[in-house]
Amino acid sequence: MGRIVFPFAQKPLGRDARAKVVARPLAPRVAPASVRVPDARLVHVEIPFPSGHPQIFVHEGARQTFERKLQAACPRPVILSMTDNRRSMIAFGFENGILRARIHHMFLDAPPAVQEALVRYVVQGDRAASLTVGRFIHDNNHRIRAARPVVRPLATQGDHHDLLTIYGQLNDKYFGGTMDALVTWGRMPKVELPRRTIKLGSYSAVERLIRIHPVLDRNWVPRYFVSYVVYHEMIHHVVVSPIVGGRKILHPPAFMERERLFREYDRAMDWEQTHVHRLLRA
Ligand SMILES: [Zn+2]
Repeated sequence: MGRIVFPFAQKPLGRDARAKVVARPLAPRVAPASVRVPDARLVHVEIPFPSGHPQIFVHEGARQTFERKLQAACPRPVILSMTDNRRSMIAFGFENGILRARIHHMFLDAPPAVQEALVRYVVQGDRAASLTVGRFIHDNNHRIRAARPVVRPLATQGDHHDLLTIYGQLNDKYFGGTMDALVTWGRMPKVELPRRTIKLGSYSAVERLIRIHPVLDRNWVPRYFVSYVVYHEMIHHVVVSPIVGGRKILHPPAFMERERLFREYDRAMDWEQTHVHRLLRA
């Protein structure tokens, strides 16, 4: 049941087919591609999804908006599906007079100029546009499905804080629901206390995985602070670390700007300042 069948794709479209097709939705209101099947690593989250659907989580509103942009530029009906491919980022072609485009989900939250370039590339085969698109793919390389699968099962439900809920809320609020990284509580490292330093969160690009230090799963750690740490790591997933003079800049200006959008940023900074010693001893 991995195939998506559209009601009007069965027979060739006639001359006036476009008018008919446009009169009703081109694709089901919620395309099968927008349904997320729980990742095998998250199986303890019991959400009843049908099996066999594509394993990709896309923001359906964003997909429809992008499909409309393609449709506005294309004289033929358009069907857009989002993919999570590792190699083929963009594929398109005409089938029975319908333009079918299969595009990597990284383009859903691409800047307007990139989306416009992609439309020109797909619809007109514009060369200059393909360069813009190519650059964007290069800069978003980290959003291509993890090269290395995560081996350990993910643990998101802590004793005091549920990372999946926090992540979901941040995803909706700050990333338009397009975030596709994984999150887990890290393992408690065996160290002598008090620690000299502590890394509250980390992001692994090859696994596309955010790890949060289990020391934050305490009743005296406020939720907004855990949320801030998760948010910080989520930005690492979407903001590229440029290499300047052979050194990777982990927190470039674009990162800092984005981090400051966190509503409780100042509060989180203050809390960290006043509780860092307690965290080091915890
Ligand atoms: Zn960082």
